[in-house]
Amino acid sequence: MKLDYEVLPLHPKHRFAIARGGHEKDHAVIVRLTDQDGMAGWGEADPVPYYGETPETVCAALEAYRRAIESAASPFDLQEIEAACERDLRRHASARAAVTAALYDLIGKRLEVPVYKLLGLDPSRAPLTSYTIGIDEPDIVRRKVREAAEYPILKIKVGTDWDEELLDIVREEAPDVRIRVDANTAWHPRLAVRRILQLEKFDLEFVEQPVAAHDIEGLHFVRAHSPLPILADESCLNANDIPRLAGAVDGINIKMAKCGGPAEALRMIHTAKAHNLQVMLGCMLETSLGIAAAAQLAPLVDYADLDGAALLAEDPFEGLSIAHGRVQLSTEPGLGVTRR
Ligand SMILES: [Mg+2]
Repeated sequence: MKLDYEVLPLHPKHRFAIARGGHEKDHAVIVRLTDQDGMAGWGEADPVPYYGETPETVCAALEAYRRAIESAASPFDLQEIEAACERDLRRHASARAAVTAALYDLIGKRLEVPVYKLLGLDPSRAPLTSYTIGIDEPDIVRRKVREAAEYPILKIKVGTDWDEELLDIVREEAPDVRIRVDANTAWHPRLAVRRILQLEKFDLEFVEQPVAAHDIEGLHFVRAHSPLPILADESCLNANDIPRLAGAVDGINIKMAKCGGPAEALRMIHTAKAHNLQVMLGCMLETSLGIAAAAQLAPLVDYADLDGAALLAEDPFEGLSIAHGRVQLSTEPGLGVTRR
């Protein structure tokens, strides 16, 4: 198989901020694997600066994987290709996610079935997705909530000194919407409990990552004192992280860019379920190509937060859409998306 890739700038509709800061531009690295018959599989890497990744580190990782990929005879050697990539260069999850997604795309195309069918999954069983509202000035938050009127679930980024004011606005504009909040590691454990007790009145579904990623004891403390369920995101990269989170949180957030792609995401889903943890499938700012890779697995999870492409000013891929919170996957083979 031949490996090609391209760095693509992504422009969000609005400047997007979380408790750790914001940005106006992002990059994806689009991977294409072409087999000997000229059939192509596509995958997307969304580098995460929080984990030290940039478009440049993704490209360097892909060069490190080139030997493993180009010496493989077919995409059906997925297990061996993943193992060889891991042997040649550890970590670099978003680059591995792009390679594995492209392999699944190619396998689906060769077998002429969508990936969800290959896995025996029924897309109608997938939970509705939330739409994320980043941290912003109150007036802008109000406008964003109005723009998101068709979504039955909103995920509100918190961790500011004006969280209550923001949630007041959201509830004013959308009294019946389901609201989940994400603090992105903003709080110390005691402050987290205080804030959660203040915010509880807004009828929240759960709180994502209240404390620092490494602070598993802190998660235990918050969960023990919180009336709302607690989900781990930054604390949970791959399946190895899950056993120690059991008891500390009520659920985990899986993202392709953190875990290394659909194969590891499947391992995480089963590991989490075995530890009685709920599972959310999340995303970064991504094109429909990245979202399509995650959405194939959505029938297996409890919560979806797959709005990455909906937050973009322009989506370079087509074949996936969201209507009233339901992610509509294409019935085309593979991941079901194509370059515009
Ligand atoms: Mg999160």
